[in-house]
Amino acid sequence: MQKLEFTLSAGPVEVTAATLAGLAKPIQYHYDDDFKATFRRVQEKTAEILQTRNDVLILQGEAILGLEGALKSLVTPGMKVLNLVQGIFGKGTGYWLRDFGAEVHELEVGYDDAVTPEMVEEFLDAHPSIEMVCLVASETPSGTVTDVSRIGPMCRDRGILTYVDTVSGVLGMEHRTDDWGLDLCVTGPQKCLGGAPGLSLISVSQRAWDKIYSNPAAPRDSYLSLLDWKEKWLGDGRFPYTPSVSDINGLEAALDQALAEGIDQVIQRHVDARELTKAGARAMGLEFWARREESMSACVTSIRLPDDIDNAEVRDLARSKYGVMFSHGQGAGNLIRLSHMGSTAGGFHSIVGLTALGRTLLDLGMKLDLGMKLDVGAGVDAALEVLSEQRGRQRSAADALV
Ligand SMILES: *Cc1c(COP(=O)(O)O)cnc(C)c1O
Repeated sequence: MQKLEFTLSAGPVEVTAATLAGLAKPIQYHYDDDFKATFRRVQEKTAEILQTRNDVLILQGEAILGLEGALKSLVTPGMKVLNLVQGIFGKGTGYWLRDFGAEVHELEVGYDDAVTPEMVEEFLDAHPSIEMVCLVASETPSGTVTDVSRIGPMCRDRGILTYVDTVSGVLGMEHRTDDWGLDLCVTGPQKCLGGAPGLSLISVSQRAWDKIYSNPAAPRDSYLSLLDWKEKWLGDGRFPYTPSVSDINGLEAALDQALAEGIDQVIQRHVDARELTKAGARAMGLEFWARREESMSACVTSIRLPDDIDNAEVRDLARSKYGVMFSHGQGAGNLIRLSHMGSTAGGFHSIVGLTALGRTLLDLGMKLDLGMKLDVGAGVDAALEVLSEQRGRQRSAADALV
């Protein structure tokens, strides 16, 4: 296998040297006072990026663990739940909900579209007995977002619980747990935070705890349990099981870098990367996967492929021929994803991505409408134009500070 030059995948992402150094720290005994202090510090820093004063739990397992454990803790048989589906992860939430015995209602749109706040409002008006709304802030496999800033407060004002998968939302878009009244949020380190996969970061509001305590089937003495972490660790200073010491140190390094840069600055960097990538892809002649430009995520730009070019083939050829790793559609559709997440959300990465993708599509014989040829040069030129504007803006902002 030839050397990989650039990982522009949609998570896990390439991590910085500082994050690798965090992961490589000595392994301490988990009841060493020093490690316990580290764990508590990491919880506080996680609360900062989740913008919350709610309890924060860090479970040792990829974000799917937190998503499943939290849902199983919240759902009681017959509970009336509205699930918003606009992609693979929302669809999966629905399977869990049915498994756990909820009465599931779904608002579902195509995976290239978004469920709007208006649709949610209309549904809730017509179904006042809904007790919880489940949503995915950012559907990474298709690169679309949901407007949590409007749906969250709408649910809070009606006394409806919210369960939010924001694994690729946090730091890739605005996320305000407390201001928007979000009850249960789950994220992970390996997306916009630019850390390693292996942890679930969860915030739980008092309302969510009340619901969990009223659920006799909420997992206890289980790997899926949120209550174990609340009672044993937060309550009693005892870990339910041994945490992965390296993952916690790696997470702290990633959090420190994000907080030093500033939450708003990290989000802006992702937005800038999207704008640059969009301009380049459009000038090249490519078509976006998302139907509505306003629902395109800032962490990955999804490109619609013609039927005769398979997304996994594009991914594999770009990797073997040009040393650039993209993500394919992962079942969401025939699309290829130019990711700009974590440390790869910066102009230069996306420019490399655009050139490698354009050339790969030419190699595969992709034709545009009316027999036009894909114009890689025009795409790079347009992207560089946007990059120079963004750098100019950053320079003026820096000058204004001194
Ligand atoms: C990455 C991600 C997860 C975690 O799922 P994996 O399949 O383990 O990567 C969950 N939800 C969303 C929206 C994600 O982007």
